[in-house]
Amino acid sequence: MSRIPAPPSRLLAPSNNFGQGNTFAKRKVLTDRDTNSSPSKRSKNESTRSQVPITGRASFMPKTKTKTENVPPAKPRRASLAPKSMGPKTSSRSTLMPKTGTRPTMGARPVSKSSLVPKAEPKAAAANPVKAKPKRAAWDVKGRLLDMEAAFKDVLKEKDTNKSKFTDYNARIEALEIEKKSLNQNLAQSQTVSLAHQDKIDILKQQLMHSEDESSKQVGNLQKDLRDSKITIENLEFKNSTLERRIKSLTSELSARDEEVLGLKSTMSQLTTSQAGTEALLSSTKQILDERTCRVKELDETVSELENKIEDITRKLADGETMRRKLHNQVQELKGNIRVFCRLRPLLSDEVKANGGDDTIHHVNILDEKSLEVSKGDLNSSSMSGLQNRGTGRFDFSYDYVFGPNDGQGCVFNEIQQLVQSALDGYNVCVFAYGQTGSGKTYTMEGKHGDATHEGMIPRTVKEIFSAMHIAKEKGWTYSVAVNIMEIYNETIRDLLAPKGSANLTHEIKRVDKNTDEVMVSNLTHTQVETADHVHHLLKQANQKRAVAATNMNEHSSRSHCVFQLKITGKNSKTTESCEATLSLVDLAGSERIKESGAEGQRLTETLNINKSLANLGNVMLALGQKSAHVPYRNSKLTHLLINSLGGNSKTLMFVNLSPLDACLNETLNSLRFATKVNQCHIGTATKQIKK
Ligand code: ADP
Ligand code: MG
Repeated sequence: MSRIPAPPSRLLAPSNNFGQGNTFAKRKVLTDRDTNSSPSKRSKNESTRSQVPITGRASFMPKTKTKTENVPPAKPRRASLAPKSMGPKTSSRSTLMPKTGTRPTMGARPVSKSSLVPKAEPKAAAANPVKAKPKRAAWDVKGRLLDMEAAFKDVLKEKDTNKSKFTDYNARIEALEIEKKSLNQNLAQSQTVSLAHQDKIDILKQQLMHSEDESSKQVGNLQKDLRDSKITIENLEFKNSTLERRIKSLTSELSARDEEVLGLKSTMSQLTTSQAGTEALLSSTKQILDERTCRVKELDETVSELENKIEDITRKLADGETMRRKLHNQVQELKGNIRVFCRLRPLLSDEVKANGGDDTIHHVNILDEKSLEVSKGDLNSSSMSGLQNRGTGRFDFSYDYVFGPNDGQGCVFNEIQQLVQSALDGYNVCVFAYGQTGSGKTYTMEGKHGDATHEGMIPRTVKEIFSAMHIAKEKGWTYSVAVNIMEIYNETIRDLLAPKGSANLTHEIKRVDKNTDEVMVSNLTHTQVETADHVHHLLKQANQKRAVAATNMNEHSSRSHCVFQLKITGKNSKTTESCEATLSLVDLAGSERIKESGAEGQRLTETLNINKSLANLGNVMLALGQKSAHVPYRNSKLTHLLINSLGGNSKTLMFVNLSPLDACLNETLNSLRFATKVNQCHIGTATKQIKK
């Protein structure tokens, strides 16, 4: 910048102001010339001009010098630029047309009137008729000549004027040339300066861009800082609000604490007052406590003594239990012969109704839990003389147990419960239900499933077995139980748990092997069971199968034996002992006698078979009792099947079910006689089967 001198302000003006600047320059040049013109020159000009009359036309020229000193120099210049029409026409006319009435000279004639006089002149003349020159008459040649001379003089004057104008113009052109030159110089200078400035502008632009970049960077940084600050502010505000909340909660807590403190203070004062009393009480209590402590000590000693005693007793009890079990087994083993339980069912509601609402059992009387009497007459009739009737129609019977009409299922089961333990201990157990149809065999064996009061021996035995198995687990015993259910009808075995499609399979009783009498039934289904419910389900299944085969369910079931067997296998992990036993529960066919002569066809076959099998059961018992060399097990399917449960190693129980109906008296007597026969058998001592 320092290189370039500061241009004059008008040169720095933008190009569109150049015209103005030019005008200004022009004016200045003219003014300078005006001021530079020496007074002598001016006076010379004036003197020159003074010879020529100043006409209105001269006022059109830009010659200020021609004017008098009193006229300001700028004014004529401006006037010279004004249009010609603005000039004072009146004065020029007065110059051209003198008012004098002298005739124009002839010398002025050569200039044509039209070329010398402006066309507006006649119009002006017409407008000013007072000053108009009268037209000379044609004969006034002299006048006209004078006019012409005057006109000629005017032309000459005008020529001089034009000459001076021309000179003026030349001078002015020169001045303009000079001015143009100076302007060109100025222009060149301006361009140079402009170029210099352009460079400068470029540099400045670059600097500007650079500084813009920097500023944008700075702005970015500042914005980032701003954002950071905003976040910081937000965080601080959040912290602040959290703290405020905390302060609030603490304040409220504090006030609550204050209240609490106040309350505590009042409580404390109350306590302080009561403390004295309490202390007194405490000291007395302490005294009592000391006494009690002494007593407790004494009692502790007593307790420990008692505990020792209890331990002793428990040990003795355990020994006693072991002894009891041993003795129990010994008793069971000594009782080894088949045991007989007699059960007299109650009169059913229908039967009571039919009897006119009388529920008295007339012919059977239970004397005690082991004996009963049967009379052909009415035992309850007052007319009956005991002695007389006893001699003729009264019979006494005694068995291992006699259950009356009011003894429920639970009571009956209590008496056979020990047999369940025997089965788990490895003894074969066989329970029969013997009696005429309708005497209560099925009720006793099965009862009503799922009914806690009426469920029979089978469901109760199953439950007992599973619970005993559970207890025996603690002693290291684990058992597995398999169920099979079959029916013996007309000396044919039917598998009541056979899967579908195996109906045609035959079931034969076979020896397990040559060295043993143990038998098995071919193609028989053995189902492993783990719960009492499962067994219940299997029993239902078996009953359905029985019903499907029968045209008359009741009749069919009473004409066949139903055998339910549980095969129990046990292992003791502690003693490595193992045992196995079969628990058989048999619902025998109805024992009522049907005269063979009266029966025909299927009925005759059934009757023969039932008679045969029941009679054979009695014979087997008898043979066993008499220790015969030959026991006719194989004479019927039933005894053959139960060969292992009716021998020396088994425990057998026979229920003799009795009907209370008067009409059944004879059958009742038959059953009782059969039971007595069985009861008198001594099968021998049962032996625990221990697998080796
Ligand atoms: P069975 O099987 O010997 O032919 P049921 O067991 O079918 O005889 O008994 C015949 C009827 O007597 C059934 O309705 C049964 O419910 C009923 N009954 C049998 N014994 C008793 C008893 N001890 N208590 C109540 N009802 C019994
Ligand atoms: Mg039955």
